[in-house]
Amino acid sequence: MGSAPAAISRGGWKLREQMEADERRVLAPFAQKSGDSRGRKYRESSHAYRTEFQRDRARIIHSRAFRRLEYKTQVFLNGTGDHLRTRLTHSIEVASISRTIARSLSLNEDLAETIALAHDLGHSPFGHSGEEMLAECMREHGGFEHNRQSLRVVELLENAYPNFDGLNLTFEVREGLRKRQAFYDPPTPEEEKYRCPSLEAQIANLADEITYYSHDLDDALDFEILSGPQLEEDAVWQRSHRAVLRRYPEAREPELHKLIIRDIIDVEVHDVVTTSAQSIVDVGVQSADEVRKQQSPLIRYSDDLLAANRELRRFLYQNVYYHPRVAEVNRRACEMLRKVFETYVVDPDRLGETAAKRIEAEGLHRTVCDYVAGMTDRYLMEEYARITAL
Ligand code: MG
Repeated sequence: MGSAPAAISRGGWKLREQMEADERRVLAPFAQKSGDSRGRKYRESSHAYRTEFQRDRARIIHSRAFRRLEYKTQVFLNGTGDHLRTRLTHSIEVASISRTIARSLSLNEDLAETIALAHDLGHSPFGHSGEEMLAECMREHGGFEHNRQSLRVVELLENAYPNFDGLNLTFEVREGLRKRQAFYDPPTPEEEKYRCPSLEAQIANLADEITYYSHDLDDALDFEILSGPQLEEDAVWQRSHRAVLRRYPEAREPELHKLIIRDIIDVEVHDVVTTSAQSIVDVGVQSADEVRKQQSPLIRYSDDLLAANRELRRFLYQNVYYHPRVAEVNRRACEMLRKVFETYVVDPDRLGETAAKRIEAEGLHRTVCDYVAGMTDRYLMEEYARITAL
């Protein structure tokens, strides 16, 4: 009783086969097991003591695109405050929340975490304003969208292997990054029938929202563009504020708003876990593939919270994302982005050697777009300074 079968464990350390057996024993029937992965585009032999999704997580964490997230803006221009979120800390928070939800629903934590860590790899410098500007620059050339770009990063732009482009990630991780986009490589007819990704991918998707709702409020308070009384207009904030004061009647700033943010995350995660557990039971899915054939996601908020979150999102757009102190800085940064983009189009010799090699297959504009999208905020500003100093 309790000891691992001799064939799949060796002298006190665990083999991959044992981990795969553990997943089958512990995870729900509708979880995506790593042993059932559809695998990778380029065949590779399996690892002795890591599952396929653990390997993918390592490939993402060790990628250059992942390290660059540290110097990319989330909402507030990178470098304007030491405590403000960056794309990197955002991604880590999304991963943490994803793991919590996945574990609670007996789903595959490794997969949910891996998708969360990779979900923003394709983000351009300067946050959403940068994305809009890049889309504008690419209007006549196929557009730009960060989800699609995250897939391009892992399928094409990262070069870690001598015999193929990209990171050669499993189908399940790429599926999680795909959102509503087509695969860079055309899917098989079977994959075309899927309407939803795995539950683990659906978790990473909602965890992303929960994370930015809460940390954008937190950062906006830190950056002093939101005030307490203003926040009282929002129902999600108001409810958590009251709950905190019931528990800690003496709570005052600077702790008070942190307690409120924590409560908001807790309320959102609790709601998603309980609502999703019920929706999974109601539909009665028995496998990861049955999940993929559902008309709509099973990981979801309750109707009440969905409505409250829509209001919160409206509140954030009105009071944070379009606030002059945010929008004006981002607008100036975006003008730099446009100038750098246009300079490369006119003078592609300025692109690095690796990027220049892609012009023939990908076209000039797409190659420039990939190059600029991959830049950190500070690299783009330095490049702008070099260009304008000419
Ligand atoms: Mg995100």
